[in-house]
Amino acid sequence: MAPVTGSRAPRLAVIVLVIVAGASLCAAWAGRHAQLLAQNEEAARSNGQLALYANSLHTLIERYRTLPAVLALDPQLQQSLQGPIDPATQNMLNRKLERINAAARSSTLELLDHQGLAVAASNWRLPTSYVGHNYAFRPYFSQSVSQGSGRFYAVGVTSGIPGYFLSSAIKDARDGFLGAMVVKLELPELEQEWAQGPDTLLVSDARGVVFIANRPGWRYRTLHPLSEADRAELQRTRQYHDQALQPLDHQVLGNLDGAARHVRVNGPQGTADYLWASLPMASEGWTLHLLKPPMASTEDSRNAALAAAGLWLSLVFGGLWLNQRRRLAALRQRGREQLESLVRARTRELRDAQEGLVQAAKLAALGQMSAALAHEISQPLTAQRMQLASLRLLLDQDRIDAARQALAPLEQMLVRMAALTTHLKTFARKSPAGVRERVDLAQVLDQALQLLETPLHTAGVRLQLQVRRPAYVRGDVIRLEQVLINLLRNALDAMTGVPAKDMHISLQLHGEQWQLDIADSGGGIASEHLEHLFDPFFTTKPIGEGLGLGLAVSLAIAHEHGGQLSAENLAHGARFTLALPIDTEPA
Ligand code: ADP
Repeated sequence: MAPVTGSRAPRLAVIVLVIVAGASLCAAWAGRHAQLLAQNEEAARSNGQLALYANSLHTLIERYRTLPAVLALDPQLQQSLQGPIDPATQNMLNRKLERINAAARSSTLELLDHQGLAVAASNWRLPTSYVGHNYAFRPYFSQSVSQGSGRFYAVGVTSGIPGYFLSSAIKDARDGFLGAMVVKLELPELEQEWAQGPDTLLVSDARGVVFIANRPGWRYRTLHPLSEADRAELQRTRQYHDQALQPLDHQVLGNLDGAARHVRVNGPQGTADYLWASLPMASEGWTLHLLKPPMASTEDSRNAALAAAGLWLSLVFGGLWLNQRRRLAALRQRGREQLESLVRARTRELRDAQEGLVQAAKLAALGQMSAALAHEISQPLTAQRMQLASLRLLLDQDRIDAARQALAPLEQMLVRMAALTTHLKTFARKSPAGVRERVDLAQVLDQALQLLETPLHTAGVRLQLQVRRPAYVRGDVIRLEQVLINLLRNALDAMTGVPAKDMHISLQLHGEQWQLDIADSGGGIASEHLEHLFDPFFTTKPIGEGLGLGLAVSLAIAHEHGGQLSAENLAHGARFTLALPIDTEPA
């Protein structure tokens, strides 16, 4: 890996920072979210619990609500309130209320006259007896006067014990108000039962004063500040007697689903956080409160945090991986393009070089040939000059027929010389690359052999031909002829100094290709030379005789035509094989 350079280091640091910060943010968010969900679930559970508590409280109160109403119908009570009460009647009433109270298992029963004076009470035997006290200031009395019944939670002014007072008006036959029957419930059993639970349970009145609590120190606290009017009213009804009513120091940290909040309380147990759910009890105008210790971060929220961080990391790394892949692909594409243009340039250079080579080889061959040509032409020229001289003699002697006969060999010689020069001209011409025409390879062979007829004949070569014709290939006549001349010349050269000079040429169809074999009975190819044969400038001939270009150029031409050129050794001599695809295009 490349070392982190100066410019990349800060970028890397930023990326790492983003990844780490993102993971922590995701984890925090998911953890918080999961915890909120769990808290909301807990809040829903709290609301369910509160409904159960409210129900049990409601059932208890309902059980006693009918008691004063039924007693108010008692004719004995009605009658006794119609006039002044003598001690015997009072005694009878006290004992009656005492009996009923014991049977109904209520806390206290009392009978008030039309002025609110307690004329009889079930607790008449106790020092805290209500008898003789006036309770007109209590709202349940005024409610009985005005509405026929009343209810009021208060701390007993006589007993100092809090309780719920339920009252019913006692009326005469003409619906006149005679007094009120009052039952007091102290609910100690309920508070005791509630104290068993692990949570804090409070009941507050309409003013927000907590009057029932299952934990010590919470009772007689106010949940919100009391107005002056409230304080005056409390003073008047002496609802909480001489309790100080300290505010409960608390602060809402957040709201949850339903009527639940997350609250910090600086309360009787010191500072603590609670999940605080509330439920109003419409029938009494009270509100029930359930306070639970907040949940510690649960396993669920930790798992959610981990999962979110994991998701974030896999997203980020996935993104990075994709980005890297895209960049690699772009790099690879650029590399490919560069390579392709390089290959194109090299191919162009090679083609130019090859064309140069072809031309050079042609010129070299031309040099060789012109020597042969000079020899070739000088002989017939001498012969022709002599024949012309004898022709003139024949004409001088008027031997016209003999003269005409002497013209024929002259003409033959001229035709041959013309053919030679034509070949040389076409050979030396630089043919334009890419000329492609239907060519009969058999005819090309004929031409090449014709061009080399004299040297072959002079050397005394025995030529054996096996040629199938026509052998159509697609290509450039001049180039193909150049290949054949090269191969024939080499074969001829190879047989210099060999007594039996045999050349065997065959042109046959092999599958999809025309195959031209030129075998000689020369010295063959030395095994160490076999692999260098087609290298440019490889030659075993003396300086001035060989350029070492013939086979290299021939191979290039064979390839150019979609064919191959190969060499092998025979028992005596060598064989060169040129294979070219047959011409499939229409003529
Ligand atoms: P040049 O003929 O100028 O040497 P070529 O490329 O035509 O160049 O031939 C390269 C070499 O291949 C020759 O020098 C010769 O050693 C060898 N060679 C070619 N043809 C034959 C053959 N028919 N028999 C033996 N050797 C051959």
